[in-house]
This record gives sequence, C-alpha cells and structure tokens, in this order.
Amino acid sequence: MSDVMQVGRADFDRVMVPNYAPIDMIPVRGEGSRLWDQQGREYVDLAGGIAVNVLGHAHPQLIDALTEQAGKLWHVSNVLTNEPALRLASKLVDATFADKVFFANSGAEANEAAFKLARRWAHETVGPDKHEIIACTNSFHGRTLFTVSVGGQPKYSQGFGPALEGISHVPYNDLAALERQISSRTCAVVIEPIQGEGGVIPAAPGYLQAVRELCDRHGALLIFDEVQSGMGRTGKLYAYMHSDVTPDILTSAKSLGGGFPIAAMLTTDAIAAHFAVGTHGSTYGGNPLGCAVAERVLDIINTEQVLAGVDARHRLLVDGIMTVNREFSVFSQVRGQGLLLGAVLADAWRGQARQIQEAAQREGLLVLQAGPDVMRMAPSLVISEADITEAMQRLHKALGHLAE
Ligand SMILES: *Cc1c(COP(=O)(O)O)cnc(C)c1O
Repeated sequence: MSDVMQVGRADFDRVMVPNYAPIDMIPVRGEGSRLWDQQGREYVDLAGGIAVNVLGHAHPQLIDALTEQAGKLWHVSNVLTNEPALRLASKLVDATFADKVFFANSGAEANEAAFKLARRWAHETVGPDKHEIIACTNSFHGRTLFTVSVGGQPKYSQGFGPALEGISHVPYNDLAALERQISSRTCAVVIEPIQGEGGVIPAAPGYLQAVRELCDRHGALLIFDEVQSGMGRTGKLYAYMHSDVTPDILTSAKSLGGGFPIAAMLTTDAIAAHFAVGTHGSTYGGNPLGCAVAERVLDIINTEQVLAGVDARHRLLVDGIMTVNREFSVFSQVRGQGLLLGAVLADAWRGQARQIQEAAQREGLLVLQAGPDVMRMAPSLVISEADITEAMQRLHKALGHLAE
C-alpha cells in the first residue's frame, strides 16, 4: 500500500470549492450513533448525516450487504437490469401506494425526475398549457436548476437565471393561498409532509387531505417530497402513511441508502407510462451496490420493531430536551415527528442556531440547524437509550457554557 497523505481541516479551504463551511473537526470512524475524529475525540451523533445514517454508522448488516454485493457486481448500466434493483423496486412497490419505481442517486435527481414526469404526463394527457408547478414557500427540493426553482428559498436560485418558467409558491399550510393559485393549468403540487430544511414544520392536521382534494378537482398531480421524512423517520415507512392521503408521485432518498447514495421516485402505472423508453435516464441510477444496501435498509426499517422504536426514542429525546431547557429557556418548543425534530429557539436566542451547534460540538455532540432559529436533530432510528442520555448531558453542558 502507498503512504496515506496527511490532511486536515485547513486543506478544505485550500482545495475545495468554498460552497460549504464544515465545522473544524474531521470524523474518521463511526459506530452506531458515535463518531471519532482525527484526534480520537468521540461524539454522540444526533445529526445522522442530515437524516441519512438511518441505522447509525457501520451497521453490521449494511456492511454485509455492501461487501457481499461488492464481491459480485458493481455496475452494469441501464442497458442491462440487475437483481438488487429488481428486488428493491419490488419491495418498495409492495410497501407503498406505488406500482412503479425509477432509481436515481440523490434527492434532487429523484425530484428532477418527478417534476419532469409530471410535466410530461400533463403535456401528453392535456397539452402544453398544463405545465404549472406549485410548491411551498421555504420548501427545499434539491440543488439542480429545476429543483432550486421549484424550491421555495430564493437564496438558492438567485444568480442562476434566467429562471425556469411556470413555477409558483404559496405559504406552507395555507390552504386558501393554494386554492387561489391552483387552476386547470396546474400540472403538479409539490409538498414536503414535514418541511425539513425550512425549519422542521409538520403539515397542519387536514392540510394534506385538503391539498389532495384541490389537486383532484383541478386534475393536478400531488407529489410528496419524502426525501427527508421518508424511510421510517416519522415512525411509519413514509410520512404520508400517517394520513389517509396517497400521492401520485413520491420521492425518497437520504435514509433510503443509510449512507450509500441512492434515491427513488415512486409512482403509479398510469403516470409511469409517460416516461417511455428514452425519455429519461441516469447512468448510476439503480446501481447494484446502492440497491443492495437500500434493500437491506428497507428490510430492517420496515418492521414493527424498528418503527415502534421511533416513537419511544421520540419521547425520550423530547423529554430530554425539555428537561435541559427548563434550566436555560433556550427553546420555545420542540416540533416535528418521530426522529425528525426541531427545537425552536426562544426569542432571546434567535439567530443563534449555528452557535448552539458549535457549542454542542465542543462538548462532543453533533446536532444540525434548520435555518438560523432551529436546532434540528435527525439521529439513527436505532440510537440507544444510553446514547440519548449521554447526548442530553452534553447538551446541558453546551447550553450551560453559552448561557454563562
Ligand atoms: C435533502 C433534500 C433534498 C435533496 O436531496 P439531495 O440528495 O441533497 O439532492 C430534496 N428534498 C428534501 C425534502 C430534502 O430534505
């Protein structure tokens, strides 16, 4: 083996495009919900790679799935199909409303496919005028040009113009605004059942049902972006399963591969038919390595044991945060569902989510932000009670230092 080059955080600023601002420690190893950095310092991980490491780090069964497939077949292209892709698609179809699956490599690509499919469907069933897409203010759907245009955070699309046409935004959970905007020209309405990046904001009771009815009335497709809320994170396989609402298209990524890049777009037979041979594609989409890992993730997560455990861990975390908060009053509330949680900063602490994240890191605790006013957590669905307890002790220390 050749000598391994020594690298550190300073090299990031030297050789990486400056579109990220990573914190100053570099993790080198993980196990369960713990991480270790270059200096051997240990961290409790409530960030979960932003809702990706759904079974923690180095889960033995995922290592098995990956290494077993790695010894057999890595890649064949979509000129051929492969067994892991067919097994994973069959299991996703069995577990959801969907009849058909398209595989991609990231959430943005799954959404790109969803938006293209919706437009194609409308173009072929009604005509080119029916091309409008309605999304929500503050929504997040990825970083490709189409997905930042549909996303409701202008800072991500500014400076990349000319803008795509036929996209509008209405406030989340505001039914009257959607009712004013939707028309026969609408081809799709795109909703996150819980807005993740936008601040961990759940759909209001009845909202999804009412959006479904509006879509039906105007012949528009309903797309659920479950890239962040899907794969067991809310205590059901997909968040839509808490309601009696079924989307026409659903996108899944992040937790789907448990850390291996893979995404899926799920839909019905009738809609899928509009992606005929040659209309869309992806070199890596449905790659055997990714599909083998995701199949194992799905096998583990879509069980009563793991899904019921999400609710139990939700209560432990919410109670833990509220207990710590009693002393410091940093947070005004904890919102979200299952293990997608946002602790909202109280007025006196507004804008300080990054400072809280850094103070937690100094005490050996990894959390996320969702905007400047929310501390977000998206840990492993199988995080141990002991790790949650330890995380709360470290949060207590971090807030104690900040409050000094
Ligand atoms: C993260 C996220 C995306 C984008 O996923 P990528 O894999 O980063 O492209 C899209 N939608 C939602 C709701 C997300 O949370």
